[in-house]
Amino acid sequence: MDTEEIILKLIELNEASKQLDIQEPERLKMINSITDYSNQFIAGLNTVKAFTEKDATLLEITNQKRSLAELLDLYQKEVAETGINAASGKHLGYIPGGGIFTAALADFIAAVTNPYASVYYASPGAATIENEVVNWLKSVFSFPENSVGCLSSGGSISTLIAFTAARDKHKVKNEFIRQHVVYLSEQVHHSTQKALRIIGLEDIIIRYISLDTTHRIKTDSLEEIIERDIAAGLQPFLVVATAGTTDTGAVDPLSEIATLAKKYKMWFHIDAAYGGFFIMTSKRERFKGIEKADSIIVDPHKGLFLPYGVGAVLIKDSAAVLHSNYYTANYMQDGASEEMLKSSANVSPELTKHFRGLRVWLPLQLHGLEPFVACLEEKLLLVNYFRNKLAELGFCLGPEPDLSVSYFWYPFVADSDKKNRQLMDEIHADGSVFLSSSIINKRFVIRIAILAFRTKKEIVDEAIEMIKSCLKKVNQTDLAKN
Ligand SMILES: *Cc1c(COP(=O)(O)O)cnc(C)c1O
Repeated sequence: MDTEEIILKLIELNEASKQLDIQEPERLKMINSITDYSNQFIAGLNTVKAFTEKDATLLEITNQKRSLAELLDLYQKEVAETGINAASGKHLGYIPGGGIFTAALADFIAAVTNPYASVYYASPGAATIENEVVNWLKSVFSFPENSVGCLSSGGSISTLIAFTAARDKHKVKNEFIRQHVVYLSEQVHHSTQKALRIIGLEDIIIRYISLDTTHRIKTDSLEEIIERDIAAGLQPFLVVATAGTTDTGAVDPLSEIATLAKKYKMWFHIDAAYGGFFIMTSKRERFKGIEKADSIIVDPHKGLFLPYGVGAVLIKDSAAVLHSNYYTANYMQDGASEEMLKSSANVSPELTKHFRGLRVWLPLQLHGLEPFVACLEEKLLLVNYFRNKLAELGFCLGPEPDLSVSYFWYPFVADSDKKNRQLMDEIHADGSVFLSSSIINKRFVIRIAILAFRTKKEIVDEAIEMIKSCLKKVNQTDLAKN
């Protein structure tokens, strides 16, 4: 093509391509529609169900252009109104989500400006924001200044980063894999085993440590098993404690486990994905020893009530993290330079990524810390309140939880598991408040997990009423059958 032809073609192409750069009047209209939609969605949260069992079937991408209004309508019906409503305060199942509005605003700005946050040189400001969030986390968990960390998409990826560093520090590879032992709680989150498998440690030996009546790791059993392994010529490598288990909200005895990790030269990892931020509350004492871990993970998209998609990992041994993630190993012989650690790309498997630091940084400074801490304290009290109410109704309760997750079951005279399952089904069919179930000590139980920032006393009252009426239904079908 000669220059003339190129110019003509460019003029022609521009007619279509310029549509991607929306102009101000239309931008304002779109923002207004989105604002209206968000307001309607948030206003409706108190009245809509927390769970709707329904498939989404109309979301296929077609070649036909559609209006924003039409797409928002589709979104409402096919996304907002199917499955669990994670933005609702009535989500009391699994580990509830968050979604504070100021984080959404931060995401909007991050997307509009689109800085390259993973390389300091490319965006010193965005990289620094991410680093300052990591620095704040270090102070929350009393990790030393020279530890490293990064923001990830969530707990699972944070675990991968921590375990990879542990693996590389302890040189667990090839024929040595089968001689190394990992010690896990019976209540460990399944992302732990998954991470081991993904990073090539599928053949490592895993020991499950039994738990006491409050679902915490028994440290004497742990030590006994370690001693036995050493006597058998095996190499203790990694011990994982949980600060807030998913099923029971238990915090393992962190200090005692730290002592054992040190004694047997193991990497000490703490999964604080769910529970970590409760360290800022009256429960602080329970977290004693967390500062002794080699690595911890914590999920701001849980305990800081942020929208899904932001986890964090802190690791003390920066050389190990760089070994796994820095792209030229030769550079490594000089050790970790300050400059290298300013770019998250060097301490994480991600290169180009969402600038997720802003959605932590902005809300923390807009609101200050106080409302976050108050919200966490409130969740602790609400679980207490929920348990009291359940006890009044004759339910059996799991042990008093360390944090905001607990469980219960009804002591039906016969077929208890089956009928509690039926009760769970009734609760799901009702859907006004969402709860989930688990198997604990071989018993079918219903879990209460309170962490959504919108969960308030009124919602717990509603849950109690719903459970009462569902229990009645189970009892009635029982009578009808007899
Ligand atoms: C949620 C959770 C994880 C996994 O984190 P994701 O952010 O879902 O990947 C790991 N451990 C615990 C204790 C959790 O609650």
